[in-house]
Amino acid sequence: MAKIVMLDSGHGGIDPGAIGPSGVREKDITLAVAKRVANILSPVVDVRLTRDSDTSYSHVTSTDLSIRARLANQAGADCFVSIHCNSATNNTAVGTETYHYPGSTLGNTLAKAVHTCVIPALGRVDRGIKTANFAVLRETDMPACLVEMAFISNPEEEALLGSAAFQETAAMAIAQGIANYLGVQLLEPVEPGTVRIIVDGQVLTGLLIDDRSYAPVRALAEALGRTVEWNEKTKTVKII
Ligand SMILES: [Zn+2]
Repeated sequence: MAKIVMLDSGHGGIDPGAIGPSGVREKDITLAVAKRVANILSPVVDVRLTRDSDTSYSHVTSTDLSIRARLANQAGADCFVSIHCNSATNNTAVGTETYHYPGSTLGNTLAKAVHTCVIPALGRVDRGIKTANFAVLRETDMPACLVEMAFISNPEEEALLGSAAFQETAAMAIAQGIANYLGVQLLEPVEPGTVRIIVDGQVLTGLLIDDRSYAPVRALAEALGRTVEWNEKTKTVKII
């Protein structure tokens, strides 16, 4: 049974979250990153999203947050990771921090797993692992953490958060942290022009030419429990 991860992209719909000095909205960044995390994890983990579009569950924030936690509880998720951008009135505040619920040992383990991947990847100031009585951390039944990737209120970090490269880096790191916590192995990214072929859990590499995938026939046949006969004279491969 695949592990279930509930990814929560902070805010959404009527709640934009924090808005940067040049107008970048937190809800857009958190959704973009959560979707990227989902893409990276989905081959090896059962990924659920609290939202996959620009929506909210209620105009009452506490209700919206409770519904997100309930979705994770009903899914029987193995962990819950909420993705946010930080904000402060002082626009010089910068860096990355990760929260878990006070006294939650597994929450701390999860937060640590995510934080230790995100810090070197993003290269921002390490503000540390902290505890907070946030609703999504309090009301979720499973280990939960909330990562504040960077400060949208800081012009430099706002620009980073808005860039696809930073979002992808953050997503890779968050996904790696979750994978480490769950003890699952992420698939390596494929080289350009190649495809990954998974046969009963065995991973083969094939070629992608004109939108058609080509598999190494012997490896494929053997993965399917068959053998291959090669006739050099007629250049014929027989799968038997
Ligand atoms: Zn937020």
